[in-house]
Amino acid sequence: MKEYIAVSACLLGVNCKYDGSNNYNKKIEELIKGKTVLPICPEVFGGLSTPRNPSEEQDDGRIIMDNKKDVTKEFKLGALRTLEFLKKLNCKNVILKNGSPSCGNYTYDGTFNHIKRMDKMGVTAKLLKDNDINLIYIDWWILKK
Ligand code: SF4
Repeated sequence: MKEYIAVSACLLGVNCKYDGSNNYNKKIEELIKGKTVLPICPEVFGGLSTPRNPSEEQDDGRIIMDNKKDVTKEFKLGALRTLEFLKKLNCKNVILKNGSPSCGNYTYDGTFNHIKRMDKMGVTAKLLKDNDINLIYIDWWILKK
């Protein structure tokens, strides 16, 4: 049976980030060498286009774009689709991009002022964690080594 590892697609160089770019880093290639990789982008899975406005979770749990559009439904759908996809393939490990309102272990405070919120995970990250998927985060100080 194949052993899969899912990875935030932007870390693999896919231009699915909100601004149409990616978060590629060569270090990721070393980490996934020899493994069967499943690229995932929950925001795209949820039906959002690329590029798109940046989004942050508000104190009341809604996910709002910086133009005030409510995209809570799309974020939740993307999280559910990601979980279903990983479950179908029995994928237990995922490398996620930190700081994202979908994928992050930490997120931002909803004001779009670059203020980190360490006590709130991204929507998909939380759902995967609650379903016993192992989340792996590679932060920038490791990536730049
Ligand atoms: Fe990357 Fe996740 Fe954001 Fe998609 S949702 S661009 S995979 S951080």
